[in-house]
Amino acid sequence: MSHAIASDLNRASEKLTALTELFGFLLRQDFKNPVFSTSLGQEDQVITHHIASNTLPIKIFTLDTGRIFQETYDVLDITQKKYNITIDVFAPSQNALEDLVTKKGPNSFYESVENRKECCGIRKIVPLKRALKGKDLWITGLRQAQSENRATLDYFSYDEHFDIIKFNPLAKWELSDVNAYLKENKVPQNSLHAKGFVSIGCAPCTRAIENGEDIRAGRWWWESSKKECGLHTIKS
Ligand code: SF4
Repeated sequence: MSHAIASDLNRASEKLTALTELFGFLLRQDFKNPVFSTSLGQEDQVITHHIASNTLPIKIFTLDTGRIFQETYDVLDITQKKYNITIDVFAPSQNALEDLVTKKGPNSFYESVENRKECCGIRKIVPLKRALKGKDLWITGLRQAQSENRATLDYFSYDEHFDIIKFNPLAKWELSDVNAYLKENKVPQNSLHAKGFVSIGCAPCTRAIENGEDIRAGRWWWESSKKECGLHTIKS
């Protein structure tokens, strides 16, 4: 049923390109509780800028896993101050975290894919579930060009895992479009981008990439499995 809703929305919005048109279209639909999840990365900063500059009625939240870079906290701080907005912060369960680190140590994610998924589950997925509770639309900064998994991404998709419609307004943007928008609008950015970090997640699980490397190559680089943490498992 929700796949059908996403398909209908895609058909109705397929000719739209500008963010103003796309968000205008979104806000004319019947969603009661749209919410935007930001990782403070470049794409998400584009969306935050658009929402904040146009005072759109959309709540913004981020996940603080406890392992993110100081530079990412700096972007969070600067962004809230610049736009005079509140970005809600969702953190992992204290008990689950204490249990994990006590039993398996602080770096268990390097030891196996299962351990890594366990850590992502506690630090990201469970807090994300809380953040999405009661929401009927999830806005993301996903782009088709970010990875093979995202190549068929459209403006709207249905996320089976979280049972929610996603709106991906940058789905068809290239990284060069993102950079141009950020520069033109003087949007705050993570200083790590200038040091070769493209996709930035937790500090122990993110490295800079070389010229020509895949955008996601800097995430969980020691694994050969798909470079997704379970936040976004694209099915449509
Ligand atoms: S990215 Fe790394 S540190 Fe962050 S939640 Fe996942 S495994 Fe844990």
